[in-house]
Amino acid sequence: MILERVEGFSAPDPRLEQYSTPAPIASEILYSALMRGDLEGTVCDLGCGTGILAIGAAILGSRSVGVELDPTALKIANENARRLGATVGFVRGDVESIALKGVSTVVMNPPFGAQRGSGGDRAFLRKATEIGEVIYSIHNAGSEGFIRRFVEPCKIEEVQRIAFPLKRSFKFHSKDVEIIEVELYRIFCR
Ligand code: SAH
Repeated sequence: MILERVEGFSAPDPRLEQYSTPAPIASEILYSALMRGDLEGTVCDLGCGTGILAIGAAILGSRSVGVELDPTALKIANENARRLGATVGFVRGDVESIALKGVSTVVMNPPFGAQRGSGGDRAFLRKATEIGEVIYSIHNAGSEGFIRRFVEPCKIEEVQRIAFPLKRSFKFHSKDVEIIEVELYRIFCR
């Protein structure tokens, strides 16, 4: 209910694949992380957008950091955190090149590469496996083979199918809401 109050993108940029994670899905991911003790250290949200995952992690007790390229999204993220009373360190940066230390868990909903061909999530997975001990990440359904090989020697511990509602946000969208099948991965790097 708290995360329902997180504002989404004001003018989403299709090149950056700005799709917010809906509140019920964000809470499901974060509760699953909480139950496994994965929110006890520092949590980093790569490509945090307007901050729903980073803010949710902070509300559940983590030290929380969000990294985002787009300053407009970051401004909304900061306002969201302030309005909901969450303390999050938002950083403007490119996931490809940012240096981060002391992160225990990464939570992310990276670009899938739908607009630029597949592989938009590679830089995100690369950084996540470099900095995180445990990773929660959302990908297109059917990505398991690719992800398994890409994250080695980290291991996929669990894959969960979820129906992800994409709200109409770009001109090329023909329906008000399109439900796509995605997979939530828990990847273990310790
Ligand atoms: N995590 C948010 C947003 C997901 S959309 C949520 O779950 O609601 C993916 C986000 O990644 C967008 O906000 C986009 O601007 C950001 N992004 C795309 N490429 C990036 C890069 N190279 N470095 C940092 N952020 C990036």
